[in-house]
Amino acid sequence: MAKRVYELWKGNNIFLCGGRLIFGPDAKSLFVTVSLIVVPVIIFCIFVARHLIHHFPSYNAGYAVLVVAIAFTIYVLILLFLTSARDPGIVPRNSHPPEEEFSYDNSSHTPGLQFPRTKEVTVNGMQVKVKYCDTCMLYRPPRCSHCSICNNCVERFDHHCPWVGQCIGQRNYRFFFMFVSSSTLLCIYVFAMSALHIKFLMDDDYPTVWKAMKHSPAAVALMIYCFVSLWFVGGLTGFHLYLISTNQTTYENFRYRSDSRPNYYNQGCINNFVEVFCTEVKPSRNNFKAFVKEEQQTRAPPVSFRQAPAEEDEPPCGPPRAKVEDDLEIGDDLLKISRRRDFEEVGDEELRSVISENVPGSNSDRV
Ligand SMILES: [Zn+2]
Ligand SMILES: [Zn+2]
Repeated sequence: MAKRVYELWKGNNIFLCGGRLIFGPDAKSLFVTVSLIVVPVIIFCIFVARHLIHHFPSYNAGYAVLVVAIAFTIYVLILLFLTSARDPGIVPRNSHPPEEEFSYDNSSHTPGLQFPRTKEVTVNGMQVKVKYCDTCMLYRPPRCSHCSICNNCVERFDHHCPWVGQCIGQRNYRFFFMFVSSSTLLCIYVFAMSALHIKFLMDDDYPTVWKAMKHSPAAVALMIYCFVSLWFVGGLTGFHLYLISTNQTTYENFRYRSDSRPNYYNQGCINNFVEVFCTEVKPSRNNFKAFVKEEQQTRAPPVSFRQAPAEEDEPPCGPPRAKVEDDLEIGDDLLKISRRRDFEEVGDEELRSVISENVPGSNSDRV
């Protein structure tokens, strides 16, 4: 029976709902993250917001404190889901090395396949080196990196976030940033409302801060929790604001900071923000629900000795090719013949011998 792409997936991802949702291998940490958000908010609603309701009697405005907390939490959880459950920008693997990247070395007596580890592509008029990924068998597009946790090449790879259990890349960076910055606002909100609760207690029956705090330990605990969390999520928000304004990824920032490499992607602060927040999210390059065609696994490609110029950004991801090494060998020999200056003098004999040597049972008369 034909299998679906996600069932034969070579990365370490976890799929749910028949391949509709894709998580990283450490998606279980989501339970921790969700409880770190939801538990404090529940405590806030029960022990703080419930009392604040009565302090704003006009138009029942006090209920807004509760509604805002709940609505904002739901919003943060949706952003977390959007970051965590979608394809972060995985570049589909090739099942064979890209044929056109082999270079044919005629100088040596035993012509072997030379496989360049890097190649140069042009980005904004500048030459950028891109590396070949052995696992995915492709030249990584610029800014793409291989996540060792998920075992996938991810476009505009930022980092692998253990809290959301997913890579942060091209397709979920926006949601990740919105999640982190909204969490910061939620922290500030809960902190401020808890402080307000203490203030009202002091105004009413508890004249000193100490007495008021003793009366509502939940508010104190929330304020400490939010204060500590703020350093984390607030710091992360500030760091990513800096990264966005200079169009860097976390990976690039950590990797190339010491190299003082030029930043090829910086288009000015405003354009950098527009790029992250106002451009359309690229559609996924993977259709996890699609059936894997059987012919893709067995079909042999035609002999090709074309040395095509490499596609600049898009790594070749044509149909998988079987027996590619044999074919390349034939192609190599044929190429050598075709390259000889005295090509006219090469008789059918030589061509026939090449074919019959390499293809067992081939009918040389057909050449
Ligand atoms: Zn890779
Ligand atoms: Zn990852």
